[in-house]
Amino acid sequence: MIKVAINGYGTIGKRVADAVSLQRDMKVIGVSKTRPNAEAFVAQERGYPLFIADMSKAQAFSDAGITVAGSVEDMIRSADIVVDATPGGVGVKNRALYEKHKVKALWQGGESHEIAGFSFNASCNYEGARNRQFVRVVSCNTTGLCRIIKAVDEGFGVTKVRAVMVRRGADPHVIKKGPIDSVVLDPVGIPSHHGPDVNSVLPDITIVTMAMIVPTTQMHMHALIFELASDATREEILAIIKAHPRLGLVKKATGIVSTAELKEYVMDLGRPRSDLWENGIYEDSVSVVGRDLYLFQAIHQEADVVVENIDAIRAMAGDVADGATSIRMTNEALGFVAI
Ligand code: NAD
Repeated sequence: MIKVAINGYGTIGKRVADAVSLQRDMKVIGVSKTRPNAEAFVAQERGYPLFIADMSKAQAFSDAGITVAGSVEDMIRSADIVVDATPGGVGVKNRALYEKHKVKALWQGGESHEIAGFSFNASCNYEGARNRQFVRVVSCNTTGLCRIIKAVDEGFGVTKVRAVMVRRGADPHVIKKGPIDSVVLDPVGIPSHHGPDVNSVLPDITIVTMAMIVPTTQMHMHALIFELASDATREEILAIIKAHPRLGLVKKATGIVSTAELKEYVMDLGRPRSDLWENGIYEDSVSVVGRDLYLFQAIHQEADVVVENIDAIRAMAGDVADGATSIRMTNEALGFVAI
């Protein structure tokens, strides 16, 4: 049983905790919060031992009726692997603590590649994370890009990818971020950071990315154009997508043409928190013109990295045979049913 601590029980951390608790080879030994808020009550309700970063706040937690199990350092001492899901830029400050306690740690995409020296995506480089002390799971957008690029590259070879990312302005519960009435180029300059980030996982892929932020919270949307190295038919590309455990096909027959309808569909299918863990590739968008492949894919920012965290934990623990086995174990434990 791999003992997992989640440092930072927020948007990503709470999802990873629930996903860990469903796996038969790992368990949650604790989660951490900085202050007693709604998520702290949820952690208590779920039965996760709650640890706090600053013990001087212990009284505030107990005044709110929340039991504190100890300090973050106490939590780290009893963990095999720490999932650091603190906000981007905070995680890097925790590295010394993980080194001090000689504990394995994985960070999220808000931290730079250098924090771990290894950027992870289960469909691309599972083996590289085996038994490593430190790993970084790439961001939601990079995860979505890596999955489809690797799959198409394995099938037909990819000589170039051009990607335009339409990014959500904030997560649905966030009240202090925008924009509320603008399309913001992020950045104006080209490429955006996503292309170089894809290269931290897939160094041999030629990719140029452009990004903008729009007033929506549901999901990101990617418009992708691939130059293929060999001839492919639309049907062959669709077959690759259908066979892939982390690529979902938004069937034309559903009539879904947006992120909002896709989110509703996933919610109606009964997914926890209406999470879409796989890429949402719009079937009708998949088009091959000459050697160019075009498609749209929706990426649920709060969800797609969650399953990658689970596979990264397994790879770092080193017990499971290969990435395909880990992906299958993760998907089955979550009750992953094709969209
Ligand atoms: P969040 O703000 O929702 O949650 C972060 C949690 O960490 C909060 O509960 C906060 O109280 C806690 N925290 C802050 N400082 C802490 C400290 N010193 N010790 C312990 N806990 C602390 O953030 P998030 O959206 O979950 O993002 C976490 C990481 O995941 C970031 O690197 C982010 O870039 C990445 N990420 C976020 C998304 C997304 O859409 N939200 C998607 C992919 C990756």
